[in-house]
Amino acid sequence: MNRYRLTVVISQAQGKHPARRALEEAIVAGLLGDSRFEVSIIPHVYDLDAEHPARLFLESVRGDMVVLAWLYPRATFWVLDRDGVRGHWGETCLKPAGEHQSADTSATAPNYDGSPEGGNGSPKRASELRSPPPERFIYCLDLRDAETAEPFLAELERIYAEVSARAAQRQPLVELGLRLRQDSDTAATMNGPTAVSFHPEQLSRPPQRRWYPVIDYSRCTNCRECLNFCLFGVYSVTEDGLIYVQHQDECRKGCPACSRVCPEHAIIFPEYKSPAIAGASFGGGIEALKIDLSKLFGGADALQIAAAERDRELLAAGRQAVGMTVGIPKRQTQKPPAPKDELDQLLDQLDAANL
Ligand code: SF4
Ligand code: SF4
Repeated sequence: MNRYRLTVVISQAQGKHPARRALEEAIVAGLLGDSRFEVSIIPHVYDLDAEHPARLFLESVRGDMVVLAWLYPRATFWVLDRDGVRGHWGETCLKPAGEHQSADTSATAPNYDGSPEGGNGSPKRASELRSPPPERFIYCLDLRDAETAEPFLAELERIYAEVSARAAQRQPLVELGLRLRQDSDTAATMNGPTAVSFHPEQLSRPPQRRWYPVIDYSRCTNCRECLNFCLFGVYSVTEDGLIYVQHQDECRKGCPACSRVCPEHAIIFPEYKSPAIAGASFGGGIEALKIDLSKLFGGADALQIAAAERDRELLAAGRQAVGMTVGIPKRQTQKPPAPKDELDQLLDQLDAANL
């Protein structure tokens, strides 16, 4: 009997949305009674504060995990990372309609793991300054990518085959997981036990809606331009000098200003209406992002837009507008450019297309 169990987490849509709820329930129904999967339903993952039981549950999962959310997968991955739920990026095959699907995903897999990139003189990505993630994989699926449960169930089957094959190769760890499972009253997975169990009602307690930036450390170069720009005390640096979002809830609801200032497009606002700021993947091709990117980052006035957005929030908070006089980065023409990735290449195409 195959005893490997894969943790599957359904992050529910905010509010009441019958069609979305129906899809969530259809996926759960499709997994019901299948002992290979350990399924949990939680509220919208972006809204979970540090005390929410669902957050504590996520932190307690030790093994591989699939999280299905109403967010771009890249956004979900970095929201989890901010919450201390870290792992290696699990590449998925379920893509939005129109995006190229390929069984061979190795060529397009993003470098989210902190392995060195770039050559001599290239600025370091912040991921290189961090401790490596635990030896497990986190797969993120966007529930907007299909209208029925079947494609998600098929992808879960594929992921299960992948992770169970991988687990079989690390037999010592599997046996450790089994031993812990026998010692524990709580639910456990063969590739790593879940340390804490919660009643479903605890997990689904509705949280307050939140709004805060999330850093994609695979892109961030730790330049601190966001820290200098934000006048609301959201960003800080760790003792090791690494930029991070310290006071999440000090961010001004609906404002994405600092994401326009970041030279590496590393700041995600998962709920923002424009895909590039909300964390859309860079594999969607130029058609998916060209208008968005040209407006958001490619235009010469991106900094003016950001300054105006910041002024609006300063005035709303009863403070004085500062315009372009504070924290506006002087684009660093001296420094060697970061290695170009797909997003940079898309921007180059935009420039060439003269949109
Ligand atoms: S501005 Fe962007 S690249 Fe610079 S530290 Fe902030 S998130 Fe990182
Ligand atoms: S959106 Fe505005 S308030 Fe929020 S972190 Fe960015 S600059 Fe600060």
